Amino acid sequence: MKRKIYLLFAISIFGMVCNLIANPWEMSLQRLREGNERFVAGQSAHPNRSLERRQETASKGQKPFATILACSDSRVPVEVLFDQGVGDLFVVKVAGNVADVDEIATIEYGTEHLATPLLVVLGHTKCGAVTAVASGAHLEGHLPKLADKIKPAFEKVQKEHSDKHNLVDLTIKENVFQTISDIISNSKIIGHLIEEKKLQVVGAIYDIETGKIEWLGTHPDEKKLVEISKHSEAQHSDSKSFFTTKNFIFMAIFIVLVSLLATILVFILAKRKS
Ligand SMILES: [Zn+2]
Repeated sequence: MKRKIYLLFAISIFGMVCNLIANPWEMSLQRLREGNERFVAGQSAHPNRSLERRQETASKGQKPFATILACSDSRVPVEVLFDQGVGDLFVVKVAGNVADVDEIATIEYGTEHLATPLLVVLGHTKCGAVTAVASGAHLEGHLPKLADKIKPAFEKVQKEHSDKHNLVDLTIKENVFQTISDIISNSKIIGHLIEEKKLQVVGAIYDIETGKIEWLGTHPDEKKLVEISKHSEAQHSDSKSFFTTKNFIFMAIFIVLVSLLATILVFILAKRKS
């Protein structure tokens, strides 16, 4: 009997080890889950915040175990809510947890250069940026541009749900998947890492009242997004300028046509004169 128990125990440990080797992100996800459970229970362990840890990471470099894109909201303190410390998490914070060129570049650094096996896109309840879009609030300065990244999620929710009371909560969730879609479809690097099984990208929602994380899993169309990423070009900050490849082609065609018309015109005029 005892032998059987030992054997079963050994098999389950072996299975767990195999799973961790095959899916390196499992361990990262588990660390985040456990850290959040400690935080929710009011039993945070405050790991890796000692003087030694600070000196060690300063001299040996950083080796974070997860990259996290979260909202800038001050009620979403990422290291605190996952009960982690110095050098544990590579965090990107931006209002509405959206992903444009700079955010995607930072995520590429975290996932490829620092090799974090897990990327979490973290939305949160009562998000001001999402509420502003859902309520059609008047935005000034650079905010309308940021709101444009959230709008597709809101429009999708409006189309798919008749219940108009829950629009903000539904948009918060949809916005997480929208951001995951923006990241994967616009980054060859992220797409490749997913395909190579070196990276797992998951969504999550943080409840600012209870402190709990609701894990949303991977994007339902992840495979499609990875395919799209293969045809994506690296976006540059100046890609929105006039001098894009597309515009150059249009300009070249335009110049050729104008030259052709001018030649025909000159030819006709010369013929009339003669
Ligand atoms: Zn927010």
